[in-house]
Amino acid sequence: PRVDPAPAGPAPTTASGEPARLAELRAHEISCWFGDHMVLDRVSLTMRAGGITALIGPSGCGKSTFLRTLNRMHELVPSAKLAGEVLLDGEDIYAPDKKLTDARRHIGMVFQKPNPFPAMSIRENVIAGLKLTGTKASRSDKEALIERCLRLAGLWNEVKDRLEAPGGGLSGGQQQRLCIARSMAIQPRVLLMDEPCSALDPTSTRVIEETMKELAQEVTIVIVTHNMQQAARVSDQCAFFLAAHGTPGVIVEHGDTSAMFQNPQDQRTSDYVQGRF
Ligand code: ADP
Ligand code: MG
Repeated sequence: PRVDPAPAGPAPTTASGEPARLAELRAHEISCWFGDHMVLDRVSLTMRAGGITALIGPSGCGKSTFLRTLNRMHELVPSAKLAGEVLLDGEDIYAPDKKLTDARRHIGMVFQKPNPFPAMSIRENVIAGLKLTGTKASRSDKEALIERCLRLAGLWNEVKDRLEAPGGGLSGGQQQRLCIARSMAIQPRVLLMDEPCSALDPTSTRVIEETMKELAQEVTIVIVTHNMQQAARVSDQCAFFLAAHGTPGVIVEHGDTSAMFQNPQDQRTSDYVQGRF
């Protein structure tokens, strides 16, 4: 018998009425080597559409490397080799017909150290990515986009009167939010964040955590963090990485954040989330 399709509800829209572009990102058996050194061994993880996934684990276990394989950033290292698949809503970003720029334009990245273009104005920083992605926008569209992205990053009220000031003149926390605004301007479907608050003070950190929850309305977020409280506060899904005694990094345990923290299934997870490491 034919099964009727589920009724199609209204497409989800963002606060500004644009269609939400929530995407699922699925890593399937990702292995990575630098030269002969294997640093990830068949890591699989599904990052839910519109969720915030936290990658946790000790230094050197491959969290940043894994994050970089999700937008092909590891290809910047000439010795890097990769096996496995990364599926963005089912489409492999490594498929032979996929261009590198496609992966990058749909999957934005924010780094540990805020890296706005320091001499460029705040305004120009936000739209700097549009040229790279070849996105065309009229002048008024650009102004609207700049405001929208700065609002999304929680920075609009602080900078709206000085959009021509250089990005490098902002505080560290503001610079990081400017980088978030810049990432969002290309309307990515996934936002990767590698310890985005590690270089920031606690107040800026909390502001960015609040921002992330807002951002998750329109983008799937993957964050690497060393801060267990942060993982517990912001993420709904968590993956615990470990690379024991020089072996390649693997995911020991993953699941809903509350379950991982309150009822870890693996002793090593339990030790780590309780600070015994
Ligand atoms: P984490 O982010 O969890 O601290 P990384 O992904 O940075 O871990 O590193 C995982 C492993 O890969 C480490 O052994 C590290 O030395 C190695 N590694 C990372 N980047 C490079 C690189 N560019 N060249 C060679 N080895 C690297
Ligand atoms: Mg790292």
